[in-house]
Amino acid sequence: MTRIIELKHVEVLYPLETKPALHDVNLFVEEGELVCLIGSSGCGKSTVLKLIAGLIQSTGGIVTKPDRVAMSFQQGALFPWLTVYENVALGLRQMQTPEDLLHRIVERELRAMHIHDFALKYPSDLSGGQRQRVGIARALAVDPHVLLLDEPFSALDPQTTAQLHDDIIEVWRRTKKTIVLVSHLIEEAVSLADRVILMKDGTVASEYKIELPYPRRENDGFHKDVMKIRKDFFA
Ligand code: ADP
Ligand code: MG
Repeated sequence: MTRIIELKHVEVLYPLETKPALHDVNLFVEEGELVCLIGSSGCGKSTVLKLIAGLIQSTGGIVTKPDRVAMSFQQGALFPWLTVYENVALGLRQMQTPEDLLHRIVERELRAMHIHDFALKYPSDLSGGQRQRVGIARALAVDPHVLLLDEPFSALDPQTTAQLHDDIIEVWRRTKKTIVLVSHLIEEAVSLADRVILMKDGTVASEYKIELPYPRRENDGFHKDVMKIRKDFFA
């Protein structure tokens, strides 16, 4: 297996801060894996994603990552003045993709995320779940090596969350992309990920391989895995 992402002894000290947000972080992600980072608020999950996305630089250690990494942010982070279609097309326009190819890709991603009917609407016309889907479609449209999702479900109701879980598993199966997802919910991580990485206080505390078949919540082993991680999470 190829390690597509690797962090070795990584430190991040934000400007004007005295305590590093990350210290001695060691982790890797293999090509095609779906990894979930969990941990309580402020433990450094988003900082790890920002490093992988290339939005910030580490102040120590080594970060290995591919060039093309796309990130979908909490709430989708869409441009309110652009239609759904144009939001999804944004990265492709920046890459100066020819119009006919751009159109084919945008149509495909809109259909894959079940938002094709909203193509000409604006983000303010959409529900939270739909906005999140647009953010994911936009990230996938540029055919990234790695897809990063920062708490994509945090503002959604349980039913919408369950649907989006299924869609992300479907995207992962269809595209075979490497996905790194952030969550603060253990159940969510165990429902989705191949491997769960637990972070605490700016570093990696432990990790767990999840080997249950999907859909996971119906599996007898689900609660056992959740309980094991919960014990460490609150230890
Ligand atoms: P999480 O996503 O797990 O909630 P973050 O990675 O956002 O955690 O933050 C980790 C720590 O770094 C927190 O203490 C947070 O306050 C701090 N932090 C995050 N972003 C910045 C920034 N731009 N400047 C200074 N401190 C930051
Ligand atoms: Mg965060």
